[in-house]
Amino acid sequence: MTFITRLAPSPTGPLHLGHAYSAMLAHDMAQVAGGTFFLRIDDLDQSRARLHWEEQIYDDLTWLDLTWETPVRRQSDHFADYDATLHKLSEMGLTYACTCTRRDIEAAANAPQEGVPQFGPDGRIYSGTCRNAGHAYSDAKCIRLNMRAACEKALPAHFEESGPDHAGTHALGLDTMVSTVGDVVLARPNMAASYHLSVVLDDAATGVTDVIRGADLFDATAIHVVLQNLLGLPTPRYHHHKLIRDDNGKRLAKRDDARAIAKYRADGASPADIRAMVGL
Ligand code: GLU
Repeated sequence: MTFITRLAPSPTGPLHLGHAYSAMLAHDMAQVAGGTFFLRIDDLDQSRARLHWEEQIYDDLTWLDLTWETPVRRQSDHFADYDATLHKLSEMGLTYACTCTRRDIEAAANAPQEGVPQFGPDGRIYSGTCRNAGHAYSDAKCIRLNMRAACEKALPAHFEESGPDHAGTHALGLDTMVSTVGDVVLARPNMAASYHLSVVLDDAATGVTDVIRGADLFDATAIHVVLQNLLGLPTPRYHHHKLIRDDNGKRLAKRDDARAIAKYRADGASPADIRAMVGL
């Protein structure tokens, strides 16, 4: 069985213990399966990506004793591909230009109906104000996927999950996608593609068969599967792993410098200490 996986950090801050866990787990799983481990630099957000953080990623992962296939893929080399795909989805009639500001979106959500979720894996669920407005793409604050129309084309669809919390086969349902996810953002004027669109293209372009990442992204997976089906791309197997939390049970974030791998290194920890800390 072919096994190709990856770690895809964004170079917007220091890698912390959560990244170390994700990296070592994916690397170990690839090794056990006789597979391949890629590193990808998710520098989609050029306003926040920094070269020195990218260099720190290479340095920290090397120190952790990990090796990866080269060349390393960088999202910033593929903006034209994202754009072409966006174009394809719009030709299929599945996208629209949204001119709503954040304030408009919040105002439209001001009278929540009981039992109807307000937030999904792409943030606040969009009310659909611009869905049939026919705004010009040049005026857009963002480009959205019409989730109902997309699901009508993409479903039936399912994915296989082997992580600790949701192991099994997950079939996507049209009504659930519309009410709990909604019209997700695919691109913005200053961002060639949203995370959802780029991750689907990047994983397919590098032949990833096994996506290993944190449990916080489990709910977003259904969006990725819809996009894969629309674009005729294969759906990988998924493994969403436990999140490494701080002493208060909070998920680690880039700003948690106290948990940065670089900090542990400076304090004299060894890669084996890091493995023990994250329970590997
Ligand atoms: N750049 C994304 C992140 O750091 C990658 C997530 C993924 O593995 O799909 O969260």
